Amino acid sequence: MNYEEYINAIEKLNLYSHHYYVLDDPLTTDEVYDTLYHEVLGYEQKNPQDILKNSPTQRVGDVISEGFTKEKHLSRMWSLEDVFDADGLEKWLVKTYKLDKNISFYCEPKFDGASLNLIYEDGALSKGITRGDGEIGELITQNVKTIKSIPLMIEYKERIEIRGEVVLFKSEFEKINEQRLLSKEAVFANPRNAAAGSLRQLDSSITAARNLVFLPYGVGENALEHKLLSEKMEYIYALGFRKPPERAVCKDFYEIESIYKQMAHDRDLYPMMLDGMVVKVNEIASQIDMGYTVKVPRFSVAYKFPALEKITKVKEIVLQVGRTGAVTPVAIVEPTDIDGVIVERATLHNFDEIERKDIRINDKVIILRSGDVIPKIIKVLLHERDGSEVLFERPTACPVCGSELLDEGVLLKCQNLACEARVVNSIIYFASKACLNIDGLGTKIVETLFNAGLVKSVVDLFDLTLDKLLSLEGFKEKKSQNLLDSLQNAKGCEYWRFINSLGIEHIGEVASKTLSDAFGFGFVNATKEQIIACDGIGEEMAESLLEFVRVNAATIIRLQELLQPMEPLKRAEAHENPFKGKTVVLTGSMSHSRNHIKETLEALGAKVSGSVSKKTDFLIYGEDAGSKHEKAMDLGVACLSEDEMRGLMDG
Ligand code: NAD
Repeated sequence: MNYEEYINAIEKLNLYSHHYYVLDDPLTTDEVYDTLYHEVLGYEQKNPQDILKNSPTQRVGDVISEGFTKEKHLSRMWSLEDVFDADGLEKWLVKTYKLDKNISFYCEPKFDGASLNLIYEDGALSKGITRGDGEIGELITQNVKTIKSIPLMIEYKERIEIRGEVVLFKSEFEKINEQRLLSKEAVFANPRNAAAGSLRQLDSSITAARNLVFLPYGVGENALEHKLLSEKMEYIYALGFRKPPERAVCKDFYEIESIYKQMAHDRDLYPMMLDGMVVKVNEIASQIDMGYTVKVPRFSVAYKFPALEKITKVKEIVLQVGRTGAVTPVAIVEPTDIDGVIVERATLHNFDEIERKDIRINDKVIILRSGDVIPKIIKVLLHERDGSEVLFERPTACPVCGSELLDEGVLLKCQNLACEARVVNSIIYFASKACLNIDGLGTKIVETLFNAGLVKSVVDLFDLTLDKLLSLEGFKEKKSQNLLDSLQNAKGCEYWRFINSLGIEHIGEVASKTLSDAFGFGFVNATKEQIIACDGIGEEMAESLLEFVRVNAATIIRLQELLQPMEPLKRAEAHENPFKGKTVVLTGSMSHSRNHIKETLEALGAKVSGSVSKKTDFLIYGEDAGSKHEKAMDLGVACLSEDEMRGLMDG
């Protein structure tokens, strides 16, 4: 990098920061920002005489937006130095050990949200201030008071600044974006932007509606006398703040590495987004000795997780036809490595999404891969367009069979029941793990059987013979016999598997189990009222089921003959008792295993459900019962202790 490039890089980084911190609408990924930032840092280390005052390395990044009163923090807020791998961590440790040898480390998640400083005076929350430039931030006390995990009063009476991150749980983020979609508002790119945007609202009622969560990670001005950060944080949590989902004191590189790997591995399991792990010197006296650079504390470092967001290019948009006939667009993108997985496709959900996000072929986009979720495009980089982008045309004909598509607005559907894609996908579904779990009946084999004309529907699977299979290319004796054996083994399956394998729209595994438990073989004769009375089954599901049964009665009977599923214990067969036909939820720890109690109740004709709703008849609680018990009481559901349950069983 030369001087001119250095100046350009700073301009670019500051522009990115404005969009990131002020507009909550980033222009690029953190990875692109961080790479450029480190190039700037490298240039400045070699040319310290050139360092510009407005360089992002010289100041905390947030820019204060107009519209809020500015407020000074009692003591400065900081950013964090970051490292990206074990080598970076080791270098940071070497540097830190040079300042002090006798140290240990407090490790906790790096939450991906917005920084917040809370000032408590005389035990009462007096101010909430965003990080701003580290010295001065935006005064947002009214908004902060709407966040339920921030206590308005604490026991500690001295003046204290408690710092933490305001985050939005992933589930909440999805909900907010769904609502914004419905009301035709722009969706948030990620939970971080959504949290920051929700916190800095001029109307507090909007903040209140967003279910933000505050997670403390440290203190500013304070008169606490703990010698270790770990003790100080335990004290803060005890004042009524939320604990991080994971924290540990480590003595060396190996322990830090081990907890880092664990946290990175589990990152998808946490309800909030984590973008790394923060490592802090645990001894407060050593922290004070080490002090700060112009921007970051020397006693801590952010050990970042691999990026989940990458920039790539849309090469093509292809169409997939599912077993229900729904046509789903899929973006084919330039292959991109995201956290060790090469991503080449991204879901586009439906045609509305393409229009709403204005996704065009050749567009540069930010793509996100998180957990098991199929990668998705979260943003088009509109400012990167060069005119080569091509609009995608909404199809009118099925890409597989060519028949005219039914246009339902958001959804396009192929109506042709004999469409190859529909038939093949419904057979694949029939054989899948959550249905009949038929080994050896994967996509390729189903396609071969279909193309050879041997199987045109699931019923035909049971007419396959060794001779027929041996006539196919690639089918030797062993493979053919294995497939026939697997099909034989599917006979006598559990009844819910049978229901699930029918592929009734809106009826998945959970609903199939409910129907099987409630009606057994009689599910085909259940009335709408009876179906809706089942826990977790609504109007749309009931209608879909009734319609399916009406159209496919003959196929259901034929399949039942072929598969001879086991009839489940019907609730109606249980003797008369207070639990017969009732929906029961268990919570807390009890004298017997949960499974044992569940089976006992089921034998009495009860349906044991996992979550409390208006349809729950009894909640049975053991020791340490938590939110389910509270919810049941709120809903007026009858709550029984384990002893009371036994009393009713015996009575
Ligand atoms: P940072 O977010 O990397 O780290 C510092 C912040 O981490 C703290 O202020 C605090 O709010 C937060 N934090 C979360 N958990 C913490 C914990 N347990 N202990 C201490 N702090 C914790 O640094 P920054 O200065 O806020 O932002 C710089 C980063 O922001 C860059 O690395 C980049 O990834 C991102 N950024 C992205 C863009 C973009 O366009 N995509 C633009 C600007 C900045």
